[in-house]
Amino acid sequence: DASPPYVGRFAPSPSGPLHFGSLVAAVGSFLDARARRGQWLLRIEDVDTPRTVPGAAQDIIATLERFGFEWDFEPVWQSARLDAYRDAFERLKAAGHVFPCACTRREMADSALARDGSRLYPGTCRNGLPPGRSAHAWRVRAQGRIVFADRIQGRQEEDLATEVGDYVVLRGDGQFAYQLAVVVDDAAAGVTDIVRGADLLGSTGRQIHLQHLLGYPTPAYAHLPVVVNAAGEKLSKQTLAAPVAALSPARALLAALAFLGQNPPPALGHASLREIWKWAAAHWSLADVPRRLQAEAPDTFSGLAR
Ligand code: GLU
Repeated sequence: DASPPYVGRFAPSPSGPLHFGSLVAAVGSFLDARARRGQWLLRIEDVDTPRTVPGAAQDIIATLERFGFEWDFEPVWQSARLDAYRDAFERLKAAGHVFPCACTRREMADSALARDGSRLYPGTCRNGLPPGRSAHAWRVRAQGRIVFADRIQGRQEEDLATEVGDYVVLRGDGQFAYQLAVVVDDAAAGVTDIVRGADLLGSTGRQIHLQHLLGYPTPAYAHLPVVVNAAGEKLSKQTLAAPVAALSPARALLAALAFLGQNPPPALGHASLREIWKWAAAHWSLADVPRRLQAEAPDTFSGLAR
């Protein structure tokens, strides 16, 4: 069998403590890796520095340890990988796949709306910067149709030019965009399988596009339903999602398994964390994860009541 050994990953952004939504993503990717006898890595996505909260990464790592997650490599910190992103960017530039863009958010909104009411980049700087203007950001020329089979959500198709538009890889503030960082890091670590929340389904087309442009293999994708509260909002610090660190790891793990359609037997209600993990790894079935983009959290975890 020539297929590469399974390498999976969990890639939290340290914008706050781990909540039930991120726990679900961690559980799904970890169990899928274990069930395939693969390796699993942890990557702290701290490139988006304005959203990074000091201490949140350490807090997430400590919570994952307490929950019994085990990673097979030293955690990767995106803030230590800027040279790799720069190299990839320079390759895109040398190949003519990116162009400098002078447009401000305001200008783009105005011209795109004026033209066709869309929110896509209107292509103003595609063929050169307007006279007297300097580069604010760098964008990838979006063209082609991306088709992939998501292991949970099924066939996905996206036309880059009409549905995404030329997208930013180097921002005006000098930061590499998440789309580029994630693709470079997954390739460098030999990630073969990405299991993550369906809130990222809309990023996958751009990521596969970048993999093609950079000559990287495309991993398999599985997008889990996103956990929402009773109001249909994604759990986040903004929706006051309760940190899972405040909960019993065994209870929270059982709730995550139930959310993922794994039907843990009631007898596990009194089991130890270790026993629950053992059952979960032996019974993991991606086919039983609900094929939905979002689903409501069990009451205790919606966190609205704090
Ligand atoms: N850091 C991203 C997030 O927390 C996840 C990235 C990924 O899994 O590709 O939303």
